[in-house]
This record gives sequence, structure tokens and C-alpha cells, in this order.
Amino acid sequence: MSEVLQNHLSKSSAPNSQNRSVDVVVVGGGIVGKACALGLAQLGLQTIEIAPDLGQNVPNPQGTQWGQRIYAFSPSTQKLLAHLHLWDAIDHGRLQPVRDMRIYGDRGEKNDQLHLSAFEAGTPQLAWIGEANLIEHTIDQASRFQNKLERINDVVEKIYVDADGSTLHLKNGGSIRAQLVIAADGANSPIRNELGMSVSEESYSQSAVVINWLCTYPHLETAFQWFLPGGDIVAMLPLPGKQVSMVWSTSPENANDLLKLDQAQWLDQFASIAHGAIIKQLGELTLNSTPAAYPLRKIRAKRFIGPEASPKVVLIGDAAHVMHPLAGQGLNLGLRDVAVLLNILGKRESFRSPSDIVLLRRYERQRQGDTSALLWVTDKLKKLFSASSNTERQLRNWGLGLVNKSHFIKQRLIERALGEIDFE
Ligand SMILES: Cc1cc2nc3c(=O)[nH]c(=O)nc-3n(C[C@H](O)[C@H](O)[C@H](O)COP(=O)(O)OP(=O)(O)OC[C@H]3O[C@@H](n4cnc5c(N)ncnc54)[C@H](O)[C@@H]3O)c2cc1C
Repeated sequence: MSEVLQNHLSKSSAPNSQNRSVDVVVVGGGIVGKACALGLAQLGLQTIEIAPDLGQNVPNPQGTQWGQRIYAFSPSTQKLLAHLHLWDAIDHGRLQPVRDMRIYGDRGEKNDQLHLSAFEAGTPQLAWIGEANLIEHTIDQASRFQNKLERINDVVEKIYVDADGSTLHLKNGGSIRAQLVIAADGANSPIRNELGMSVSEESYSQSAVVINWLCTYPHLETAFQWFLPGGDIVAMLPLPGKQVSMVWSTSPENANDLLKLDQAQWLDQFASIAHGAIIKQLGELTLNSTPAAYPLRKIRAKRFIGPEASPKVVLIGDAAHVMHPLAGQGLNLGLRDVAVLLNILGKRESFRSPSDIVLLRRYERQRQGDTSALLWVTDKLKKLFSASSNTERQLRNWGLGLVNKSHFIKQRLIERALGEIDFE
């Protein structure tokens, strides 16, 4: 995208003639964009979703090889998927409920650990672990039968915003006019950039290496996380059967080296970290997917609606916020954006258009708190466990043990991880 155009451009100032006009356009074909587009169409709004990866429906994952992108889905995500009539259509044989979380400090001492338990919190599970494709496939299936939703396999090249709405110009030609544009176009959000919406951004100088493993001991429906000296974090998330999905956050150089390891070298790695605790817990691990690495950063858009002078565009998902994956919450947070937006648009008074400023401000207000709190907590935890002084090391490990003894704090932590949303 080359041209930055914002504020009050009149409809006629957009170069090409308009081909189409709808209530809402969702830009982006990740899980957040797909869920949002489906939900809007279910509200009865004429919706178009545009992304370059909408050409083919995502196939239903099958067999013993599990998809590479594995996520922890929180109960708030489950609630949204149920609201969209998707939850019961998902193949639950490929979803693993998490009943316990065990988090270990970096000194290897017995008391440096935090145990969160669904049983103690009085909830059936803390989260579910499953493949991104499983959710995407189910959304794709439902979208095929939704006559208010049209999907266009294309790239948005330009956006012109005026007092009545926006005009989007597509790479393959043609333009679309919408009252409201929802940017779900990911961390580098071209729409956000084009409108000049500012962000605060920080690299963690880490990459996350993800791999699925077969293990010889049962994982006990437990998600494990080890903080390692130097700031690395290894999470092992349970999958159905004797399988786990690893997320190892480490320096980009080490991530590069890890990607090249063979099976035997991996076992040596596991023996040498966390005092061998990973192998003691899960037994022998056998590679069950191709490894991949993702750079990690923190991004927060200053405003979630824009452009400043006449907001007609809403940011959701990674376009609005990106966080460290140590809490497994980025997607869940993005889907809470969707839930709030659907609630607000679903309840709007009949005289308000979908891009009415009152509604957009309501959305922004409701999402600021949840986003700031999660970004703050994950950021502080990441930094506390990267700090190298002895004092900080003692403090963080002592802190884990202390929190572990407080039922009250643990209950609050679990409430935050479950995420609250309500549909009226
Ligand atoms: C290692 C790792 C592990 C993670 N684990 C978890 C977890 O366990 N739980 C959790 O909740 N979150 C997790 N996350 C976060 C999660 O991956 C993201 O928050 C989520 O994928 C964001 O989804 P999205 O739909 O907003 O963006 P994306 O999935 O990035 O989708 C963006 C979409 O926009 C489209 N697009 C871009 N530009 C244009 C354009 N110009 N025109 C049209 N379309 C465009 C793209 O093609 C794409 O379809 C993890 C992240 C990492 C890195």
C-alpha cells in the first residue's frame, strides 16, 4: 500500500468507480476476521470479508499428525464459538481440556512453583488445547451457508474514509463501499498503517519455536511451563492422547539452532534444561511435527477506532494488540474483541448505523481495560523472568511460591485467564 489517505475524503475523491456497497467489510482471513464476519452476518448485516487466504476452505484436520499451529482456547472463546453455533460442530476428539496448570521457577527448587487447578477453582476446565485449523475449518463450513456473508479472495490496497463510510480498493481491481470497516488484518495491519493510526511497539528479542511431541508418560491434562535462567520459557501443552505441543521462547539465534536439531539432539537439550524436569514429567519425547519459529513482540494500537477525525474503522485481534505467548491469550483476547463488537452492534438502536460514533466509542472503551491489563501482566512477567540480578531472581521464585499459597490470588488469576464475556 502506498498512499496514506485519511480523514474527510469525500466519496467522489476516491479514484475508481464503486462496484459494490455493503453494511460491513471485514479485512482479514485469520480466525479473528473469520469469526467476526460470520457473527456480523448472523446479526443480519450484509457483510463482505476480504483476504488473500480465503480462496479455499481450510480442510478438517485428521489423522495422527497434528497441525503446527496449536492454541490454548479460553472459556471466553468457547462462549463466543457457542454463540456463533460452532462449538458443537467442532470435532471434540481433537480438543484437549486442561484441568491443571503447573508453572515452575528458574531455580529448580521444590517450592518455586505455582499450581492452578480447575477443581480448586470450581470450573470443569481451565482451557482447551487444539489446532487452529480445527476452528478455521468449522468457521469456513458455517460461512458457506450464511447468505448475508460474501468472501472475496483478494488484498485491500487502499482505503478512503469519508464522513459516511469507507471505500476499499482491491488488488485485482474493483472497489467496495462499506459503512463500517473492521480491520482484522494482523500484527502488521496495512489498514491501520494506511490510516496512520499510531502504535507502541517493542520487540522481545525472542522467537517462539513450536513443535508437537509424542510422550511416553501421560500429561495428566496438565499444561506445564518452565521459566529457565536467562529468560527462556518452555511450555508443554497437552493434546489428546500422549501428545504435547511445545512453545519454547528463546533468543532468535538459539531458535535458529533449535530448528536444526535432530531427535537425539533434542533429547540432549531436554536433559540439560530445567534439571531434566521435562523428561521426568513427560518421559521420552518423539518429534511429531515440523518445527517452526515465530518472532515475538508487543504491539498496542493507541486507538482502536480511526481515523481520528471521523472514525469509520475498527481494529480487532492482532491489528489492535499483540502480546508474548507465555499466557496463551493473544487469540482469546482478539475473539473477545469480536464478542464485544457483536454485542454492541447486535443491541444497537434502529436509528444508528453500524459505524455510529457512539457505538464505536463504546467498543473502544470496553476493550481498553481488558487489553491493557493482559498486555501489562504478560509483559511484566516476561521481563521479571528475564532479569538477571540475584535479587530479581529470588523475588520472582519466592513470588511464585507465595502466590501458590494464596487461594484468593489464584482465584483472581484463573478468573482473568478464563476471560469474561456475556451475550445478551
Ligand atoms: C508462538 C505463538 C503461540 C501462540 N499461542 C497462542 C495461544 O495458545 N492462545 C492464544 O489465544 N493466542 C496465541 N497466540 C496469538 C495468536 O497467534 C494471534 O493472536 C492470532 O493468530 C491473531 O489472529 P488474527 O486473526 O488477529 O491475525 P492473523 O491470524 O495474523 O490474520 C491476519 C489476516 O489478515 C490478512 N491480511 C493482511 N493484510 C491484508 C490486506 N491488505 N488485505 C486483506 N487481508 C489482509 C492475512 O492474509 C490474514 O488472513 C500465539 C502466538 C504465537 C506467535
